[in-house]
Amino acid sequence: MPSFVKVDKCDGCKALDKTACQHICPNDLMALNKEISKAYNLEPEMCWECYNCVKICPQDAIEVRGYADFVPMGANVIPMRSSDSIMWTVKFRSGQIKRFKFPIRTTPEGSAVPDGGFETGTDDLKSATLFTEPASAGLPAIWTK
Ligand code: SF4
Ligand code: SF4
Repeated sequence: MPSFVKVDKCDGCKALDKTACQHICPNDLMALNKEISKAYNLEPEMCWECYNCVKICPQDAIEVRGYADFVPMGANVIPMRSSDSIMWTVKFRSGQIKRFKFPIRTTPEGSAVPDGGFETGTDDLKSATLFTEPASAGLPAIWTK
């Protein structure tokens, strides 16, 4: 089931050139109606339910209708992301609430090293080797035809 925007909460990311949900959607599905400063899902049938837009929205204005095997009918699931963990809140139609908190990283936020510390990678997109090869493969060189 696709994501949908709660229009009463969406502020259009305060008229930024590109909204947070547009920036994050891997499928380029989110669009902004500039006349009313509200975002919407352009092609709901193409939504992967990846929850990226839900997690990044600064106004908590996006929800995903989860599949019934994951979210019981009438319930909803809301993720809240912090710098080191994510809290999933499940609200059942009976009013019962359950929360599950999971760590999302093992290093401090902002400390990720793109090349994993190998320092030998290339960002040449035309290269036949992967970003950190040959060092990450433990080889002096990667042989190609
Ligand atoms: S990220 Fe949230 S507040 Fe910003 S435009 Fe999208 S739905 Fe609206
Ligand atoms: S749930 Fe994922 S695929 Fe669907 S609109 Fe949001 S970011 Fe895009």
